[in-house]
Amino acid sequence: MARSITEKIAEITPPDPIKICHVCGTHEWTITRSGLRALLPESVSLIAGPGCPVCIVPAREIDEAVWLALNGVTVTTLGDMYRVPGSEASLDDAKSRGGDVRVVYSVRDAVAMARREPEQEFVFFAIGFETTTPMNALEILDCPENMSFLVSHRLIPPAMEFLAEFEDLDIDGFIAPGHVSTIIGAKPYERFPEEYGVPTVVAGFESLDVLMTVYMILKQIDSDSPKLENEYSRAVTYEGNVRAQEAIYRVFDVIDGSWRGIGEIPSSTLSLKEEFSHADARQRYSIDAGPSRDIYPGCSCHLVILGKITPDECPLFMEECTPETPKGACMVSSEGTCKIWTQERL
Ligand code: SF4
Repeated sequence: MARSITEKIAEITPPDPIKICHVCGTHEWTITRSGLRALLPESVSLIAGPGCPVCIVPAREIDEAVWLALNGVTVTTLGDMYRVPGSEASLDDAKSRGGDVRVVYSVRDAVAMARREPEQEFVFFAIGFETTTPMNALEILDCPENMSFLVSHRLIPPAMEFLAEFEDLDIDGFIAPGHVSTIIGAKPYERFPEEYGVPTVVAGFESLDVLMTVYMILKQIDSDSPKLENEYSRAVTYEGNVRAQEAIYRVFDVIDGSWRGIGEIPSSTLSLKEEFSHADARQRYSIDAGPSRDIYPGCSCHLVILGKITPDECPLFMEECTPETPKGACMVSSEGTCKIWTQERL
């Protein structure tokens, strides 16, 4: 099957360079682990955009979590976030300095802890794209009094729009993320073929899914007919999970927000609605985290996140920066591009 797809890809691929961008850490994992890049014609490059939900959390927001942990609040976090460096420290560092930081498997665990310890103040560090947001929204609707949320959620379609408009990125096709699309549906991606002329295909996570998606994009390029297609129709519908979307917009407003290594992206971030201010850690505490710094000197995460370079083009890759000594956010999470590329070398 893979061979017949790659043969068809070879037949229709033009000699000019084609840049296909995905925005999902799991897609990068599939592409890298399956060696898909080596199966494609030289003129086709698959680049990784800002698809790691941990990597794009600005250092300032990690600094806020660190400040809370060092000021008497119990900070609960998903494991991927624990070692991501803030401006000067990670949550791991905060714990070693005496802060109460607890890794949880889900927001439910954090809420259960808060209910068991009503005398203690708890904060859940709520990160992630549209995939994880509905669960947090549901918990916010019914959270205990001693619990609040440090909200760092981001939205994927505005980031894709940012990439489509980015001056010298010249993206020829988008692989839209399967997990996020189970929630938001395929509909929000219509603007990419319609407004930007960029073929866009929603993809699943098996290597054959990604290979087929690349073929579908190249076919659109070959016939000069950009459109939205859904390769992952076994899980993603056009409208998505409407109840999950309702939960998100019951609790959150959409605002402009900063992405680590990228900067401000309009309408890309979620903020708690005023009626849920009691559950907003930023309103509950006078957080004073000081000035922030997103990028460690010499780290090229901002270029990796934009797909402008590959991790092995960063001078620190596997030298000063390793999974044991991460200098940038992209080296920490299992969805970070640098971490994924490193595992390929082990
Ligand atoms: Fe940053 Fe490390 Fe990746 Fe270089 S290898 S871009 S320092 S995370």
